[in-house]
Amino acid sequence: MSQENQSSKNQLVFGDNFKFKCHPGVSCFTTCCADVTIFLSPYDVLRLKHRLGMTSGEFIEKNTHILTREKQIIPLVVLKMSDNEQKSCPFVTSEGCTVYSDRPWACRMFPLDVDEKEMFSVIATTDRCKGLLENEEMRVIEWLEDQGVMDYQRVNNYYAEITSHPGMRGMDVTNDRIRQMIYMAAYDLDRFRSFVLDSSFLKRFEFEPNFSERIRVDDTELLKLGLDWIKFGLFGEKTLKVRPEVIEVKQKAQAKEKPGTKS
Ligand code: SF4
Ligand code: SF4
Repeated sequence: MSQENQSSKNQLVFGDNFKFKCHPGVSCFTTCCADVTIFLSPYDVLRLKHRLGMTSGEFIEKNTHILTREKQIIPLVVLKMSDNEQKSCPFVTSEGCTVYSDRPWACRMFPLDVDEKEMFSVIATTDRCKGLLENEEMRVIEWLEDQGVMDYQRVNNYYAEITSHPGMRGMDVTNDRIRQMIYMAAYDLDRFRSFVLDSSFLKRFEFEPNFSERIRVDDTELLKLGLDWIKFGLFGEKTLKVRPEVIEVKQKAQAKEKPGTKS
């Protein structure tokens, strides 16, 4: 595909070809890793904090800005750029990305972006991204696999089921404690782990044997639990199953509260 064709066909599907190769020999090498707004998904935070040997709380405190708006249920988490003239990414050096195998989804996708209909587009231009002028052609699907996007996509899709849920439209959560719990379950995983293990959480829902052992060591499993809990709590989805004995206790308590109900 010529460069002209590539720019004229900027709606690509999985099987379409595009031209791109990023390597230390390009004149623009690492220049795109500065002064950028990179929104981090919960899985991005999970991978990066793990890579850096930090807790989720430490990573969020040191490396992110949290953008909140009044009544917004889930905050936007943005990677903090360095405080230097270039506003460079804290993870870039002259040799490239130091967290490469755990870099965020947006960095993996670049120079492509994708919309909700799974149409891909080239978002960079040849004046800044010289990799688009390289003579290497590949299919979109090959690029995604090569960049390890699919693993991210699986977990991100699970999260997107919350952010794009029809129930989110017009939802007005003014209770700050509920918003904090949602944020903890999606982003502050180490705090969520303590909450799950140190409270009655595991006694309220049915789980497979050894589940508590799994979430002690497996952050991805813990994140899925957090997202299931949000879906259960916010939208009433059957992502978690309440134990029958918990339902029974609740029903008895409700019956007692009803005026004129004999116990
Ligand atoms: S995380 Fe890595 S790839 Fe992404 S902007 Fe930073 S240095 Fe560049
Ligand atoms: S601008 Fe494009 S070619 Fe240059 S370093 Fe970034 S991704 Fe690679």
